[in-house]
Amino acid sequence: MSLLEISGLRAGIGEREILKGIDLTVSSGEVHAVMGPNGSGKSTLAHVLMGRPGYEVKAGSVSVDGQELLGLPTWRRAQAGLFLAMQYPVEVPGVSLQAALEESFAASGRQRSQVTELVRHEAERIGFRQQLLTRPLNVEFSGGEKKFNETLQLGVLRPRFAVLDEIDSGLDIDALRAVSRRIEAATSESDLGVLAITHYSRILHELRPDVVHVLSEGRIVASGGPELAQQLEQTGYAAYGVEQPAGRAEAQPLPENPFADPFA
Ligand code: ADP
Ligand code: MG
Repeated sequence: MSLLEISGLRAGIGEREILKGIDLTVSSGEVHAVMGPNGSGKSTLAHVLMGRPGYEVKAGSVSVDGQELLGLPTWRRAQAGLFLAMQYPVEVPGVSLQAALEESFAASGRQRSQVTELVRHEAERIGFRQQLLTRPLNVEFSGGEKKFNETLQLGVLRPRFAVLDEIDSGLDIDALRAVSRRIEAATSESDLGVLAITHYSRILHELRPDVVHVLSEGRIVASGGPELAQQLEQTGYAAYGVEQPAGRAEAQPLPENPFADPFA
């Protein structure tokens, strides 16, 4: 069994603190949902976990099975077993899905030659159109197709922990069911641990959470069982002292290149 442990995590952009002390522990096979209004810091949490450049970590720790990840470049975090399905997956002209997955396999000591068959199998399993497999990564994909593509990569790579940043956004009802069923299956088939960030409880009908957390203004203000998601659907976030989403502060530009190595 593996453990993803986040403790006392404080992080922000420039002077602005966005995450104000996050504690979360996810075990293999568990699904934790993180719900919260716009601007509460959900994507910041996802980015900081995976090591996106541009964020400043002020305190805390993120580890997988005791290995500290903060300070490691993104690819090392991936090797440690962490996977991020991005809210807005990046288009990568000139690089095929196949090539990206083969590199990833090679980097983790697995056989490149297994990728083709795994991709075919996963595409069939979730109902991802085969024609899309030959396009450059995400280029000209619809929002929903990008989320399918993230799910397919998750299925092929078999990480230990997946952080899903609004994997449900952009998916129609059938696609949402296919994606959430596939991820739910991974929690039992390969003991995947999931941190599912979402606004809506709908995805949690198939991807059944063990624990639901409410994130508000950079803090986890409530945690409970699946019934908490149902309750939020009824009451909104107001019961947790959340006003209407705060206006965006002046934007600090993040680095253009999401693959830049901040630790180089
Ligand atoms: P969520 O994903 O929960 O909607 P985010 O993590 O994207 O929220 O944003 C959390 C807060 O940080 C928001 O107030 C947002 O305006 C702010 N923020 C996010 N990115 C930037 C940035 N590049 N510059 C300044 N503020 C930012
Ligand atoms: Mg977000």
